[in-house]
Amino acid sequence: MSGVKAGEDMGSRRTSSSSSMSVTDTETTNKPAKKTPNDFIFGKAIGEGSFSTVYLAKEVGVDKEVAVKVLDKRHIIKERKNEYVMREREVLMKLNHPFFIQLFCTFQDTERLYFVLSYARGGELLHYLNKLSSFDVACTQFYAAEIVIALQHLRNLGIIHRDLKPENILLNDEMHIQITDFGSAKILKDSSPEENSKGGDGTPASGGRRNSFVGTAQYVSPEVLTSKKASFSSDLWALGCIIYQFLAGLPPFRGGHEYQIFQKITKLEYDFPEGFPDSATDLVERLLVIDETNRLGCPELGGFGPLKDHEFFKGINWDSLKDGPAPKMMPYLPATSHNPELWSSERVGFDDKRLVEIITDTVMTADERKKELERQATGNKYHQFVEGNLILKQGLIDKRKGLFARRRMLLLTEGPHLYYVDPANMVLKGQIPWSKELRPEAKNFKIFFVHTPNRTYYLEDPESRTEEWVRKIREVWRRYYSSDNKPVERP
Ligand code: ATP
Repeated sequence: MSGVKAGEDMGSRRTSSSSSMSVTDTETTNKPAKKTPNDFIFGKAIGEGSFSTVYLAKEVGVDKEVAVKVLDKRHIIKERKNEYVMREREVLMKLNHPFFIQLFCTFQDTERLYFVLSYARGGELLHYLNKLSSFDVACTQFYAAEIVIALQHLRNLGIIHRDLKPENILLNDEMHIQITDFGSAKILKDSSPEENSKGGDGTPASGGRRNSFVGTAQYVSPEVLTSKKASFSSDLWALGCIIYQFLAGLPPFRGGHEYQIFQKITKLEYDFPEGFPDSATDLVERLLVIDETNRLGCPELGGFGPLKDHEFFKGINWDSLKDGPAPKMMPYLPATSHNPELWSSERVGFDDKRLVEIITDTVMTADERKKELERQATGNKYHQFVEGNLILKQGLIDKRKGLFARRRMLLLTEGPHLYYVDPANMVLKGQIPWSKELRPEAKNFKIFFVHTPNRTYYLEDPESRTEEWVRKIREVWRRYYSSDNKPVERP
């Protein structure tokens, strides 16, 4: 790829003068240690990017895990991503803060580039957010505060991330943030941090192509969309979107396609779901401001001081954040969502309201099953969604994601399957994936959870019959997963 000749050492940040020292040693000398792939023992692949694979690895003779990002040169050249890769390296080399992925060294061979990085053992923050749907106030406060500190470090170095989002926030083994993915970043030359809110050189944020944007649709700021100029404040906008998403379960600007999302961003068209905490509402409203010189945290408003002093961050000890424990990740399920009044105005059709429950038991004969299935095929309009399986229980539920809820017909069938259908449009929306690890849990008479390895589903039964759901799901679990098929305490 241009700028880097095959076989040339791309650079080494953490080097050593002793053969026993590793890529994890601190920088004590400028002499580059010429690493090669043979210096590392490569383990499993831990992630895939568009033109890279990340491996867990250890340097030979060093008992410390690192992540090695291996990039395919031909692919990078073909996709014209040279600049992207070189920028990522340049930014990573400038960073020196615990809230960022650390680049220990880079090297290459004829076909590949290698970035040796600190290993974020906790994985992606997005994984936990997907699993829980939302984060409670303590967790949101903690992670938002760590992002604020990270942004302050970036500003001091004159760097705009430009693609800040939960996917780009990894976690170390103690669950502190490790921000990554600097391919879209911008380094402002001769910037005066805390004084310079503009993009500085005024070049298009896309790096030349004015008709494209850098970043991810849901988190992109209005100034990037309208003037194509990113500023430090663009990352503050993304922070506002992230705080909203942590608590609400979905980002503030949503739409079926990018254009729709962009329209909403430029018109500041979003609202807060019921239950969104007041102090967080105030903070988000001060971050999601169209005028980038009027966003809390921007230099024009006094920099990071006023942002850190915001009521939402009350109680945060900014100096000891990185050394303190991360809070246990919990979903945000405020009491208001349990309020029956929320549902009282909702009306469902007669057919849907009448819960059809076929209590099958293990002694159902093949003949009886066949008859039930025939009855279902002719008399149950949801038969079309269940792939010929017998429905064991069905009922309307409200499937919650953060503070948002959608009414669905939940269908527990043989197989086993848990299908959910949009009853208004009669469209199959998905399935809760069954496995031996699936576990239902009644929270109260109205709310039950279905835990799966990658996600917990929060389900509300407007009929207040969660116990029936949990009992039936457990019964099906026993039928399919209990090795001796004897009743077990709980799945
Ligand atoms: P794209 O290049 O398409 O934007 P990406 O930036 O996610 O994707 P990579 O940087 O190659 O691509 O990372 C791929 C995946 O590997 C990430 O999504 C992340 O889950 C994992 N990963 C990357 N770096 C590390 C690291 N230092 N520690 C642990 N996991 C990592």
